Amino acid sequence: MSNNQKKKNNKGLKTIAIHHGESFSEETGCIMPPIFATSTFEHGNKADFDYTRSGNPNFTILENVLKRIENANYCTVFSSGISAVTAIVSTLQSGDKILCESNLYGCTIRMFEKIFKKFGIQPLYFDFTKKENLDQISNINPALIWLESPTNPLLKILNIKEICKIANSREIPVVVDNTFCTAVIQKPLELGATLSLISTTKFINGHSDALGGAVITNNELWNNKMIFAQKALGLNPSPFDCWLITRGLKTLPLRIEQQTKNASFIVNELRSYKLIDTLLYPFNKNHPQFQLAKEQMQIGGSMITLKLKMNKNDTFNFCKKLEYFSLAESLGGVESLICHPATMTHASVDKKVRESLEIDDSLVRLSIGCEDSSDLLSDLLMAFDSFC
Ligand code: PLP
Repeated sequence: MSNNQKKKNNKGLKTIAIHHGESFSEETGCIMPPIFATSTFEHGNKADFDYTRSGNPNFTILENVLKRIENANYCTVFSSGISAVTAIVSTLQSGDKILCESNLYGCTIRMFEKIFKKFGIQPLYFDFTKKENLDQISNINPALIWLESPTNPLLKILNIKEICKIANSREIPVVVDNTFCTAVIQKPLELGATLSLISTTKFINGHSDALGGAVITNNELWNNKMIFAQKALGLNPSPFDCWLITRGLKTLPLRIEQQTKNASFIVNELRSYKLIDTLLYPFNKNHPQFQLAKEQMQIGGSMITLKLKMNKNDTFNFCKKLEYFSLAESLGGVESLICHPATMTHASVDKKVRESLEIDDSLVRLSIGCEDSSDLLSDLLMAFDSFC
């Protein structure tokens, strides 16, 4: 292989994110693809599009970038992260078991508990940071293993490689929800996962103006199942949302770099602040899985979770006093957000389960944006000041 060829196959992530390749309108020379606002396509067209529920040029353009940034063979896009979850779980049969990490996004748990249990699917939850719980893979022999790392909102780091090694030796597919990292920080398929799931609503789009999800895989059979789920269940995104997400994705590496710098600055400044009981951040030396995080993730990312020395009322008042951190669901955008998981993202999780996970009223989750780090820090300190 010549040097030139080598170079071509090893493009950097920033280049891939910006150059999406085919625009499906080459004759115009357009730099940005148009929005293909069409529900249907004339039979026999060159690109073989059929009906937008089962494919559209804006889906293909986004899928191509998402699979290339993960070095993967296949990607299918969906209307939201939760649609992507639906697509995967819809492939199971009644009686199948899903072995889950105990701390997952609240609405993923809600879907397993309130929807799929009705159809005979059995979710079982274990703390996968505990080595002894890895034995449950062979004890239970599930149809699927479901992981997040870092988990939402506790930022636990799971050993994806180790879990996948055990699962792969038993041909058990592993799903890793990579929403908090994206391929910039971690590539689950390279660590052995079968499916990498992502809510493109968050970091991938980065501007809090569209919803989307994607499943990325190297396995052709799984890819066919995802394409089938997209059209059979009507889980397709809109061409406009795909267009927005493709545009947002162009700056993903730059945004994550800036957001991570800001987060590291805030962690350094607040790590022993008097009103913070625990500061959770994967690249903070006190994090329980700090070493693993360093091995598994390229950088620490921009999610920080704080357990405050405050009651529920004060915690809410603290959130409301912030100027640049809006109290809102979601994460990963250019603007900083704060979330109160117990009453927001994880409100649908059974109270006892939430308490056992220690997702309590004094826990807040910060999504650090691209603002100036000094402004974000002084915003947090000023809000804290009124409780000193
Ligand atoms: N996975 C994780 C880890 C999330 O945090 C979320 C949403 O917050 C989702 C999946 C669901 O994504 P969406 O809101 O796009 O459906």
